[in-house]
Amino acid sequence: MTYIQFTNLLKYKQIQHFVAADNMSLMSPDGVGNRQLYADAFHFALQNAVSANQSHGCNVHRVLLSDAGCGAVDAQSRIDNCDALITNELDVPLFIMTADCVPLLLYDAENQAVAAVHAGWKGTALRIACRAVERMTAEFGSKPENILAGIGPAIGECCYEVGDEVVEAVGREFVASVTSSGKSKLNLPLANSAQLVSCGLKNENIEFSGICTCCNAAWPSWRREQTQRRLASVIWLKS
Ligand SMILES: [Zn+2]
Repeated sequence: MTYIQFTNLLKYKQIQHFVAADNMSLMSPDGVGNRQLYADAFHFALQNAVSANQSHGCNVHRVLLSDAGCGAVDAQSRIDNCDALITNELDVPLFIMTADCVPLLLYDAENQAVAAVHAGWKGTALRIACRAVERMTAEFGSKPENILAGIGPAIGECCYEVGDEVVEAVGREFVASVTSSGKSKLNLPLANSAQLVSCGLKNENIEFSGICTCCNAAWPSWRREQTQRRLASVIWLKS
């Protein structure tokens, strides 16, 4: 098992979380087995887990107890057409699946609510991270200044060469460098962090994994290997 955890989230005993490099895609045969491996190791009930049929959009779904188990072990039952899951229900792990896109985990310790967010360049352009924060405010009374964020392994500025349409959509200020052939390299994790700050999170409450999925062979990377493997970013409130 290869996974990371965020120091800022580890301080709270009311939640558990991890970001795992092991494949947990429901589209590949070993995905369910790896989910069960982590369920056993982290003491959560896999049958309560929720994952989304992510669509590079900006829909946020509030997960209710009646959703528990949707997308736990089969792709068909995933919450359809959404890229951010939020909940204040206990023992309902939220799964976000990525391979280069930016995964974000959010926690409001005042109101006991969590979120998991998928932000590729399209979702970033749609400000999906802020949409999740705004929905936490609407549903749970969360104050952005109290929300902690972990930004997980994603393709880094070292590797993320993009075309002009992506630069325009995400923001030219997040171009980290330009290659000799004139291609821009974009810092997508930083773009998401900046959005979180713009919607009220404190800089000191945002933690980066610092891991580039494309440079680190342990992590699934679409850019590096066009893989069906997906890393999982998971968070839940413990009873
Ligand atoms: Zn890299």
